[in-house]
Amino acid sequence: MSQVKLLPWPNGHRCPFLLRDDDVSYFTKPDNLRKLYESTWQRKFVVSFSVIPNIACNIPSYTYARQFGLTYSPMIPPDVRGKSAKYKTSDNPELIEFLQERRKNGQADLILHGFTHERINNIPEFLIRNKLEIRDRLEAALDLFQKTFHSNPKTFLPPREKISKEAWSNIVGNGLNLCRNFPLFLKEYLSSFSKGYFPLRPHPRLRAIFPWFGINYVNFYGDTYEFRSNGFFFSFIHDPEKQLKAAKRIFKWEYDSWNVSVWSLHHWEFFFDWNDTVTQKKHQQNLEQFLNYVAQYDVWKCGFTELADWLIRFKNVKATAENDGLSIIAGMPIKNLAIYSPKKCSLTGLPAESYESREDTTIIREMPANQLVEIKVD
Ligand SMILES: [Zn+2]
Repeated sequence: MSQVKLLPWPNGHRCPFLLRDDDVSYFTKPDNLRKLYESTWQRKFVVSFSVIPNIACNIPSYTYARQFGLTYSPMIPPDVRGKSAKYKTSDNPELIEFLQERRKNGQADLILHGFTHERINNIPEFLIRNKLEIRDRLEAALDLFQKTFHSNPKTFLPPREKISKEAWSNIVGNGLNLCRNFPLFLKEYLSSFSKGYFPLRPHPRLRAIFPWFGINYVNFYGDTYEFRSNGFFFSFIHDPEKQLKAAKRIFKWEYDSWNVSVWSLHHWEFFFDWNDTVTQKKHQQNLEQFLNYVAQYDVWKCGFTELADWLIRFKNVKATAENDGLSIIAGMPIKNLAIYSPKKCSLTGLPAESYESREDTTIIREMPANQLVEIKVD
């Protein structure tokens, strides 16, 4: 058997690392995002913001917010909380400018988070089963997102993480990837069935839950993916110290198995209840400590758009093992493809300036489509 092999992530990184920040809406203050993520961005992490195009103000609060005596979701500012009005993100030019600039600098990615995030007959927005209503809501959301950011979203996050089968086919049918928090442990996974939401196909899902079964994303069909997030961390739902410990442990596990590592945050929780300075200082410190910990490792700091693009291109790379090496053909151009070889090897089929070797890894900077590249142990 040849010991030369393709590595799964660009530049030979061990794992893609993503931060997902939820519930960006008309009400989100750019200054607060700046305060919260200043050091995150200094360390070159990417924050993928999930945007609600037309937020409703009367979203009921869930168990964890009820402990603060709140009837309505604290992601809405107190002065409009519980009112029947809706607010469009497109009406907040300062926020749009901020997000677009961060996106241009490679510091942020944008994903679509429902349309209004409201509950319909007490059911999360995309857990409803009426096909026409699902279609209308998704169309309106895509349209508004397009008009606001002059681009189409590539990834969809359903409000409350929950979708019906009907919504699932519409979302995936529109070529959108999905990202959801999904329980890492079997007990929680099984109970999601009894809670009545669509928990995805069992087989690939099991692979996603248990890293030793495979990797941490599911490829549905064609070029659409579902990414699993580890859930909300650095959140007032849980004890700060326990979260930090669990976060490090889960990250290390994902890193060791070359998995995708996705973490969900709520910027608004850090400023609870709509202060201009961080009120949840302990959680913020723990987030910083966690990112310091992660930064010691060889992670690929990316957003969902880049990750999905990589997966599509990588899926089109055909690598055939030979006695003393590997032959590779890419179906689409791909950058920073990494090849591992424990022994010194040489590469044919590409000009010398398009690849470089370091220690046991060769990185092909520019791999054109349909070009045979051979790597042989010297
Ligand atoms: Zn949300």
